[in-house]
Amino acid sequence: MSTLPLNSGTSIPQIGYGTYATEDTATMVAEALGLGYRHLDTAQMYGNEAGVGEGVRRSGVDRSEVFITTKLDNDVHRHDDALESFDRSLRALGTDYVDLFLIHWPLPTRYGGDFVSTWRTMLEIAESGRAKAVGVSNFEPEHVEALVRETGVVPAVNQIEVHPYFANDAVRSCCREHGIVVEAWSPLGRGDEFDDPTVREVADQLDASPAQVILRWHLQRGDVIIPKSSTRERMRENFDLHSFQLSDEQMSSITALDRGADGRRGAHPDTFTG
Ligand code: NAD
Repeated sequence: MSTLPLNSGTSIPQIGYGTYATEDTATMVAEALGLGYRHLDTAQMYGNEAGVGEGVRRSGVDRSEVFITTKLDNDVHRHDDALESFDRSLRALGTDYVDLFLIHWPLPTRYGGDFVSTWRTMLEIAESGRAKAVGVSNFEPEHVEALVRETGVVPAVNQIEVHPYFANDAVRSCCREHGIVVEAWSPLGRGDEFDDPTVREVADQLDASPAQVILRWHLQRGDVIIPKSSTRERMRENFDLHSFQLSDEQMSSITALDRGADGRRGAHPDTFTG
C-alpha cells in the first residue's frame, strides 16, 4: 500500500474510501477494509461517523491500522462549538483519536471571514494528541496563505475537488509549494467522465476500466484519492491500481481534458456558505 508523508510526521495511504452518501455505511466500511483499504474519509456533515466506527469494529482490522479522517462541520466553527463537535465525533467513531481532522469549508463570508481562528482551534486539538494531523478542505490559495502567514503552521492536507475535467492546478501548485498533500474529492467526477472518448481510448489501450484510468492518473500526479462506491466489485476495481500505469503521453492526454472553471461540479469555496 503506497503512503505519502504528512508534515505532522505521520503518513497517509494514497487510496482511501469515501463514505459520503453511503447507504449502509458500517457494511460498506467493513467491506472496504476486507478488500484492503486502510483509509476512510468521513465528515461530521455526512452523519455517518457512527457507521464508520461500527464498520471498523466489524471488520476485525485493528484501529491502529486504519487511517480515519473526519471534518469540522460548517455550523461549528466557533471555538467551543468546534471542541464539542470534535468530542462528539470521537464518541460516534468509538475511538480516542482521528488520524486527520479537516476544516470542511473555509466559509470566507461567514464568521467575519475569520477562518484563521478556526485554524487555531484545530491546532489546539492537534496539540491535545487527539488528531494526529490537522488540515483543511476546499481552501483556495489565498485562504492557505492567510493561515500560514497568521499562524506559521502549514496544514498537512488540503482536500479539494479534482478530476480530469477540473484539474484545479492553481490550488494544487500552492499546496506543492507549501508541502501540503492534496486529496482529490469526487476523483471520478461522480462518474460523468467515464464516457469521455479520450478516457475510453486510454482504458482500451491499458485493458483497464475508465474509473481505473482516472484514478491512476490522480495517483501518478501524486494526489491522494478517496473514491466512493457502494458496489463490492467497483470498490475492488478502484483499489486495484498498481498492475498498470499511464505513459507520459496518456497522462498528458487526460490532463488536456481540463475545462478550467467550467469543469467544477461542486460549490466555489469563495462563495459557499455551508
Ligand atoms: P466520486 O467521484 O468518488 O464518484 C462516486 C460515484 O461514481 C459513485 O456514486 C458511483 O456511482 C460511481 N463509481 C464509483 N466507482 C465506480 C466504478 N469503478 N465504476 C463505475 N462507477 C463508479 O464522487 P464523490 O462521492 O462525490 O467523492 C468521493 C468522496 O470524496 C466522498 O465520498 C467524500 O468522502 C469526499 N468528498 C468530499 C467533499 C469535500 O467538500 N471535502 C465533497 C465531496 C466529496
